[in-house]
Amino acid sequence: MQFTGKNVLVTGAASGLGKEIALTLASRGLKVWINYRSRPDEADAIKEKIEAEGGVAAVIGFDVADDKAFVEGIKTIIDSDGELSYLVNNAGITNDKLAIRMKTEDFESVIKTNLTSAFVGCREALKAMNKKRFGSVVNIASIVGETGNVGQVNYSASKGGMIAMTKSFALEGSARGIRFNTITPGFIETNMTDKLSEEVKKSYIDKIPLKRFGKPKDVAQAVAFLLSDNSAYITGMTLKVNGGLYM
Ligand code: NAP
Repeated sequence: MQFTGKNVLVTGAASGLGKEIALTLASRGLKVWINYRSRPDEADAIKEKIEAEGGVAAVIGFDVADDKAFVEGIKTIIDSDGELSYLVNNAGITNDKLAIRMKTEDFESVIKTNLTSAFVGCREALKAMNKKRFGSVVNIASIVGETGNVGQVNYSASKGGMIAMTKSFALEGSARGIRFNTITPGFIETNMTDKLSEEVKKSYIDKIPLKRFGKPKDVAQAVAFLLSDNSAYITGMTLKVNGGLYM
């Protein structure tokens, strides 16, 4: 894996997919900025693990749904390192309910945390990356943004919006070689999928051609590829990491 940039910000990196993405990118030689919202101790533990393995990391706490805090966070990174080379918009939430029971606030809060935050991150990254004429961004969407799902009108809208938004950013970034891509994970073993009942998990595994939920590493390796120079001619794309569940 070839990285010619020096640092990366991973949002929501204190747990789940974000944690694995942070560890993987650090092991490939990037300085990783570990963003957290409510888990400072977990974020510190990841930093210590990276450093114990010879990598470089820093912890940065902010709520991605607070646009001023996100802008300030990216400024802190650039003030420290002189640039933001790569960004992974990973932080995300669910708030599942059938549409007929979903309040407008339930819809808007998921859009704000998952989609508006990614917009702010992409916008600030593009400004910074334009100056250096270098950079690559990966947005973590979801298979549900491609297929829809019962109980997830809000979540699917946020993730489908992310897929379309990434293509527009890719067009706007292309003049200066800044790349934007999306990954759409299927069902991956994290806290988010631990919430599913054993019965629901089994019904999904029956439908997955590779007959298992994905591991966080399956997603992290795809992120590393799409950020790195190995994917230099790929932009605006949606990489499905879903075991063949949706092709
Ligand atoms: P997770 O274990 O719940 O982790 C989500 C992380 O995002 C948590 O560390 C959380 O921090 C953080 N976060 C949430 N809201 C935040 C905010 N406003 N500001 C900063 N950080 C925030 O879930 P995951 O499965 O790793 O999900 C990671 C991403 O992958 C999400 O975007 C999710 O939609 C996507 N995804 C996951 C799956 C899957 O099967 N697991 C499938 C498709 C897509 P706190 O705990 O402090 O809130």
